[in-house]
Amino acid sequence: MYFGSVRFFKDLIIVCIATVIAVSIGLAIFFGVKYASLKNDYEENVAKPVINNIAEEEKEEEVKKSLDEIYDEMKKQGYSDDEILEYIEKENPKSFDKYVSALKAIRNAPSYTKLFPDLYVEAPKKNEISDKTIYLTFDDGPAENTWSILSILRKHNVKATFFMCAVETEQDIAIVKQCIADGHTVGIHSASHDYETIYKDVDSFLLDMKNTSDGIYKATGVKPDIMRFAGGSVNAYNEPISKELCEEVKRRGYTYFDWNVSGQDASNNATWTSVYNNILNGVGERNNAIVLLHNRDVSVYVTEDIIIALKNRGYSFDKLTNETTPSQFTIPPEEQLSDSKGIR
Ligand SMILES: [Zn+2]
Repeated sequence: MYFGSVRFFKDLIIVCIATVIAVSIGLAIFFGVKYASLKNDYEENVAKPVINNIAEEEKEEEVKKSLDEIYDEMKKQGYSDDEILEYIEKENPKSFDKYVSALKAIRNAPSYTKLFPDLYVEAPKKNEISDKTIYLTFDDGPAENTWSILSILRKHNVKATFFMCAVETEQDIAIVKQCIADGHTVGIHSASHDYETIYKDVDSFLLDMKNTSDGIYKATGVKPDIMRFAGGSVNAYNEPISKELCEEVKRRGYTYFDWNVSGQDASNNATWTSVYNNILNGVGERNNAIVLLHNRDVSVYVTEDIIIALKNRGYSFDKLTNETTPSQFTIPPEEQLSDSKGIR
């Protein structure tokens, strides 16, 4: 009898094992194939496009970055703008429009925008100005008189702003360092302060600005990020290029400050009384004021009295930063129209 015999059970066990093995292999093959096709689908429909997109974006980024270089190089080799455009269209037909607008921006940028790549600072994120606050500014230092001004400010615990000319001598360096050590702001004015030279064109202006910035940076390790144009942002000497100057300075991240109250202390017939009255009347009922002073003898005599008088009127004092809302001219300052050499 085969069923129920030892041999039957032996065969049954073999058949069972064989079936398990066969089913396992079958399943493995089935899922293997299925996985492979899923994987294929994934690579075809999901992964590849993503990878391609990344590659495409990277490529675009690269091309954009090198666009400036391509343009400069081809320009150097004498190609016209149209020829350069044609070349770029041929190389990058798909994204041509983007490149055209980028190229136009490069093509239209004035050449002075390429000068002095170090003459940039971080642009302010916001600009604000405090209520009941006076911002005293002293132009044309460093000078011997700066020491006296510093000690008056220290005595009254007042922070102020110094717009500097060239920093060259040991004495200049010591003064600028002391301004920083006392917690004041040191800004760029003009190394040469020679209107004819600095306002000849934007290139000349930027060279002077760079010299001033370098002088301050070498002396103190602090890179100035605010500036005041010699004679104000619009004056009789720079009027034809004033718009370009102001835009270029802003484009490089700097905040430039004119003033809304002037002591007129640079005038040769300035007296204690005239400067004192100019400032006190100029501040009048203002909520805040950016006050122009210099490093003259008369500026030294009057500074302490101005501080006391304005404190008595309830004002506090502060220094300017590149986040202070600036006062900026749109026309040359009145005092300058009557005497264009009145302001230094
Ligand atoms: Zn000046």
